[in-house]
Amino acid sequence: MAASTTTTTPALFRFSVHNTTDTTHISHTHPVPLFLCQPAESQQTSAAFKDAFIDVIALITAQHHTECMAALTSPCLACASPTTDCLKSPSSFLNLAEPVVVIAVYPVCGSKTCEYQVRGQLLRRQMRGIEAAKEDERKLYGKMGREALCWVWLGGVLRQGVSGGGVEGA
Ligand SMILES: [Zn+2]
Repeated sequence: MAASTTTTTPALFRFSVHNTTDTTHISHTHPVPLFLCQPAESQQTSAAFKDAFIDVIALITAQHHTECMAALTSPCLACASPTTDCLKSPSSFLNLAEPVVVIAVYPVCGSKTCEYQVRGQLLRRQMRGIEAAKEDERKLYGKMGREALCWVWLGGVLRQGVSGGGVEGA
């Protein structure tokens, strides 16, 4: 199981920064481990695979935190205080022929209460809107292979600091 040399493939990370009146898109391409894009069926459901998946996406997403913050012009989604942080909600389409991760970015003021509220809102919206969202993404990315689409809800929202937050954009 020792993966001494991990084969990678380029993946598009598309950030949708949601302000009150508009949405800004920021796109970056990063290499991701190939096995995340083409997992064996048995891998897909394993905890180790999910962990690796979330680690990679969290790491890459954190690298663009500053850029996302710069694009956020709206106040906190919950309390309307000035925005000092953002929540990032990733959806993975890494299994497509041209792998994509779509990350929705929302403004928050940094208070735990607001973060909790916004997470709750997003989760409820996600539950309700998951079919509609799938449909939207299909329209957006359908050209890349509709049959291959799979929706991976990562079960949470990534925050900037991946505990300790050693990842500072150079
Ligand atoms: Zn707030």
